[in-house]
Amino acid sequence: MAWFPLATPTTLETQLNINDYIACTHCDALYRRSPLEPGQSAICRDCGAEVTWEGEGRHEVVLAMAISGLILFAVACSFPVLSIQVGSQIESSSLISTTLKLVQSGFWGLAASMVLFVILYPALTFIGATIVIAGLELLPPKRRPILAVTLRWVTTLMPWSMTGVYVIGIFVSLVKLAKMAEVIPGAALFALIALIPISLMLRTQLSRETLWRRLEDA
Ligand SMILES: [Zn+2]
Repeated sequence: MAWFPLATPTTLETQLNINDYIACTHCDALYRRSPLEPGQSAICRDCGAEVTWEGEGRHEVVLAMAISGLILFAVACSFPVLSIQVGSQIESSSLISTTLKLVQSGFWGLAASMVLFVILYPALTFIGATIVIAGLELLPPKRRPILAVTLRWVTTLMPWSMTGVYVIGIFVSLVKLAKMAEVIPGAALFALIALIPISLMLRTQLSRETLWRRLEDA
């Protein structure tokens, strides 16, 4: 990662154009924007946090993560998360079957939360990121407004993907169930665990600023 010093904070400027400035999201220090080379980062002088970066060199990595996320997500939805063996009987539960059982038991709020925060929002985030990054390379400029809409919902939904919270819940259940029966982790559980770092990396590596600039330039 390249380190690129930012200009001095400009608190004495009188004619402010908001697009010329950027604030550090960690300490609120204000900087004038400087052009960055692909792969370069702008580091805050006050707190050392990454204020912004030029995402051109990173979007191939983000695209690979988004596609990997989609594959893992397909595994998470297709295979059991856990199987519980009591005697000769084995009961398996998947994301879909757990949601249906919650609905049948009348836990509508829990079922809706699971569908939205564990299934729908993460899936749409991975699909949207793939569409935007691949679309910028493949679609003609006149078709790109749809990418702007897609990028807007990706950035809106991204913070609401809560696969990690669900996995923590599964581990809490595992500890309790292990005392009563034999619990067999399924392929979906491993896929969900792998999705946590991929979601985090997608969130931190996707440069919205670079994508917006490329969409505006189209
Ligand atoms: Zn800072």
